Amino acid sequence: MKKKRIYLDYAATTPVDSQVFSVMRPYFTEKFGNPMSIHAFGREASNAVEKARQTSAIFFGCDPSEIIFTSGATESNNLAIKGAAISLVNHQGGSKPHVITTQFEHSCILNSCKKLEEQGMAEVTYLPIGNDGLVKINDIEKAIKANTLLISVMYVNNEIGTIQPIKEIGKLIEKLNSNREQKIIFHTDATQAINYFDCKVDNLKVDLLSMSAHKIYGPKGVGCLYIRKNIRVTRIQDGGGQEFNLRSGTLNVPGIVGLGAALEIAEKERKKVSKLVEKLRDHMITRIMKEIKGVKLNGSKLKRSPNNANFIFQDVEGEGLLLGLDIEGVAVSTGSACSAGDLRPSHVLMAIGIPEEESHGSLRVTLGKYTTKTEIDRFIKSLKEVVARLRKIAGK
Ligand SMILES: *Cc1c(COP(=O)(O)O)cnc(C)c1O
Repeated sequence: MKKKRIYLDYAATTPVDSQVFSVMRPYFTEKFGNPMSIHAFGREASNAVEKARQTSAIFFGCDPSEIIFTSGATESNNLAIKGAAISLVNHQGGSKPHVITTQFEHSCILNSCKKLEEQGMAEVTYLPIGNDGLVKINDIEKAIKANTLLISVMYVNNEIGTIQPIKEIGKLIEKLNSNREQKIIFHTDATQAINYFDCKVDNLKVDLLSMSAHKIYGPKGVGCLYIRKNIRVTRIQDGGGQEFNLRSGTLNVPGIVGLGAALEIAEKERKKVSKLVEKLRDHMITRIMKEIKGVKLNGSKLKRSPNNANFIFQDVEGEGLLLGLDIEGVAVSTGSACSAGDLRPSHVLMAIGIPEEESHGSLRVTLGKYTTKTEIDRFIKSLKEVVARLRKIAGK
């Protein structure tokens, strides 16, 4: 009999919650209208989208008109970074705004910033990250210049799970803005934070916030961007003018309905899931550190998402570990799914100062609400075998 597979890669994606799927389902079949249509089919679809917008607004503590539905966090981040920068350039009569971000953002933030630099639209500072995986407020404060107009810092890192001090950064920017004519816009990529942390935009004091449904037990290909009232963002896609003319294209109605449902469930289950996942994760870390020699945990132990552990196994290649575990039916990751298959060292581990040779032995294990203790214990059993085998082959 084939063994049941074990999924420990929840930071890459999550399965759709069955409750989410059942509310989405009718919008594929009988309720298939285009929300732009004026007839009853269209109104039915449009009502469902507006209901999801309200649910999302409740989750983020904002007004529904501040929520823009997109195809996911990659698009939300592109729209936030490029849209805000382009609008600033237009507004300032062509002078270059200064953008501050960190070296360990998701590739969609880093590549959006690089694109702005290439096109001469912005000047960008990429802040280093401490060995604990945390950005220092002091570094942000020091990097701010007269023409700094956009700061983007992720809430929870997708590889090492460390939680950035978003509220403190928000407070700093608010304080500085009170004396500035041109206000600094603050963006956060909250994709990995939604399940576990407070995402009320006024508590965080953010102007822009990105998220994606498929990381929170919702469907793939849908996300949203929160844009605070009075913050100017220029659209980067032209068309029929949907989403307040900020994101043209026929709306992904079932996806949006699913996103709303997933956010509602995330809020309701947050406490319970956080506790469950953290307990299992800590049990796993304790056992691994005790039972396997030459293991290190990357990033702060305390300031990290309850579902994340990122290890370095000495004298082992992470790729080999991943493939060995895959044969055993266990799914983990060496870094971010978006750069999997890429043998370059992880930019996140480099940013927190892990030497290149060491970073090749890294393994990311991310748990979720369906993870069980039996799965964790079976994973550890396989891990011990695979690590021992690989070390033996390497003659260590
Ligand atoms: C997954 C992820 C993204 C990309 O989201 P998509 O919806 O897959 O485009 C962006 N940022 C972070 C932090 C992520 O974890």
